[in-house]
Amino acid sequence: MNYRTLGRTGLTVSEIGLGSEYFAKQTVEAGVALVNAATGAGVNYFDLFNPEPHVRDVFGIAMQGRRGEFIMQAHLCSAWIDGQYKRTRDMDQVKAAFTDLMTRLKTDYIDVGMVHYVDEQKDFDQVFGGPVIEFAKEQKAAGHIRHIGMSTHNPRVAIQAVKSGLIDVIMFSINPAYDILPPNEDINVMFDKASYETVLANIDPERQELYSLCESQGVAITVMKPYGGGSLLSAEASPFGAAMSVAQCLHYCLTRPGVATVLAGAVNKEELMEAVAYCDASDAEKDYAKLLSSCPAHPFTDKCMYCGHCAPCTAGIDIASVNKFADLCQAQRMVPETVREHYNVLSVKASACVKCGQCETRCPFGVKIVEHMQKAVDIFGE
Ligand code: SF4
Ligand code: SF4
Repeated sequence: MNYRTLGRTGLTVSEIGLGSEYFAKQTVEAGVALVNAATGAGVNYFDLFNPEPHVRDVFGIAMQGRRGEFIMQAHLCSAWIDGQYKRTRDMDQVKAAFTDLMTRLKTDYIDVGMVHYVDEQKDFDQVFGGPVIEFAKEQKAAGHIRHIGMSTHNPRVAIQAVKSGLIDVIMFSINPAYDILPPNEDINVMFDKASYETVLANIDPERQELYSLCESQGVAITVMKPYGGGSLLSAEASPFGAAMSVAQCLHYCLTRPGVATVLAGAVNKEELMEAVAYCDASDAEKDYAKLLSSCPAHPFTDKCMYCGHCAPCTAGIDIASVNKFADLCQAQRMVPETVREHYNVLSVKASACVKCGQCETRCPFGVKIVEHMQKAVDIFGE
């Protein structure tokens, strides 16, 4: 297992985390066995959004006697009312669900208290201007929540949450298919097949801005839906008209700026191990560049995907890193100090480019690298 820092929280998390999407349909025993298999494989980051009481019990049992081995991202505002899931902003329900969460987890703290599912602007305004965020802040002050997070599918809302300075972690849906879609408040409209008929190729600028903002501000992204609900794994269902592998999907997410961990959903131990195997996969197995640059529909072009295929540079420039740092600045229309520091650490700067053009012949996305190097010089001054 590989580990990364969860942004400014400073926590060390496994690159592959476990989402609890499929736990609701499992018995407590099967759930505990799956969690144990995950920790045995080095997974230490878990998302718990489920309101179903028995799923909370699964984690309470699995964590007993070894709370420190788990970094729990558990959701606020996800309640179990009259035997049904309900996303709620009713404070009586929010508080009761939180008490139930802590009781069933048998713990006195959760690492990331994730405000659940904020996609609409109106909802965001109410959550961040009302009692929900105040409750989260109170719980943080009391030590019951170590860090506040928010889950969303809407980059426009996510950007506002990051800019609020109140959250340290954002749970966001990332995969190459969602990345080409413009923001929408309605998840059903956004992820509908018809939405792909009108969009252009390449990453939506607001999503790019979100990733850049998160990286420069130290707000960690934890990824949900890395396989697009499974559609990306099938040529028939994928909007690209070509199937990606699990390793390619995970690698795509983990090469986006700001991403700390990907929450892989797993029905059973086999699916979990397929995701964990990413850490031992070869570069060729993880490589998504060829597929995305040549897929039958929506090919990505002239946009650096940080894949590294252009290496080696004649002058020794780390082209993918230079492009990434320049993109971070362009997305935010400024040069954040943290990004400048990262650029300064590069041993060879973009100004060393001798315009030989060798790299451009190797780039599968047709990026005009010589122009990009000049742009980086304009941004960073060297
Ligand atoms: S310039 Fe092209 S080959 Fe190089 S990292 Fe970017 S997308 Fe990959
Ligand atoms: S064109 Fe510039 S960036 Fe590309 S290989 Fe040559 S020196 Fe390196």
